[in-house]
Amino acid sequence: MPSEFDLIARHFTRPAPGAVLGVGDDAALMRASPGMDLAVSTDMLVAGRHFYPDTDPYLLGRKALAVNLSDLAAMGARPRWATLALALPEPDESWLAAFSAGLLELAAEYGVDLVGGDTTRGPLNLCITILGEVEAGRALRRDAARAGDDIWVSGNLGGAALALRFLQGQAALPEEAARDALARLEAPIPRVALGRALVVGQVRAAIDLSDGLLGDLGHILERSGLGAEVQVDALPLHPALAQVSLEAARACALAGGDDYELCFTANPAQHATILAAAALAGVTVSRIGWTRTEPGLTLRDRSGALVTAPGRGFDHFAQ
Ligand code: ADP
Ligand code: MG
Repeated sequence: MPSEFDLIARHFTRPAPGAVLGVGDDAALMRASPGMDLAVSTDMLVAGRHFYPDTDPYLLGRKALAVNLSDLAAMGARPRWATLALALPEPDESWLAAFSAGLLELAAEYGVDLVGGDTTRGPLNLCITILGEVEAGRALRRDAARAGDDIWVSGNLGGAALALRFLQGQAALPEEAARDALARLEAPIPRVALGRALVVGQVRAAIDLSDGLLGDLGHILERSGLGAEVQVDALPLHPALAQVSLEAARACALAGGDDYELCFTANPAQHATILAAAALAGVTVSRIGWTRTEPGLTLRDRSGALVTAPGRGFDHFAQ
């Protein structure tokens, strides 16, 4: 049976050109760039709760890192280094090879070095810590929205939630729509380039959409002491949502999780700057509403009629 050290050497030890010292010592060494704040974020993925234990390990490796990259995108930070803490029921070499291939491939795409971690026996559990850099004082913060800001989202929403309903047998989809929606769930694209472009464009407040728009936008509003109005007809719906009722489509877009798009707020005077930043990053963005001093979140359709919220974003402890 391979030792823990063999496994680490084979699957997780790679050159770390962006670090002073990578995997293999008691600690990794990284040198932060002058004038930059360090951004650090950790996400834990537990088998049976965040993913099915029989999930394709290659896709799991990619997704585990992607959700961490998304957190840095939401801060406007440039991802640079990551560590991986891994608990495995048994040392399954083919599982590890596929998992590390997925993770390391995505890391290479984003210029991230895996610089350390921990490997132990236990119920399947992955925990990645990601580190990145953002210009000092310029990170995109949840507490930085101001009244009268426009509210924007990137890409489209609801695809991942629709895919989950499809997998659970609650939505029937033609093959192509199912494939598109499943890609959103299994292979989310972290909006790193957009986050960086927003920092350059002087945007202040952002969050990534992991738990659903209502819940996640709610975090910005709460931390910034604001309310908001969202125009449900302006929501960019995932194309596969054309296959379900308007009510179900809105519910997926408003309360579904796992889309990993960015939601951000900006002064209306920044409208053109934001469109230019998004074009530079190769992402579409949609203005979906505005913030206000009056607390609460109001949803309206294009006729001005109030729309009932489909329930808050997914909360792991509220079931
Ligand atoms: P220690 O005994 O000091 O905790 P370990 O034996 O746990 O060291 O790890 C040896 C080296 O391998 C360390 O540099 C550690 O950061 C790295 N490492 C362990 N597990 C992983 C992993 N899953 N991915 C990347 N690096 C890892
Ligand atoms: Mg250790």
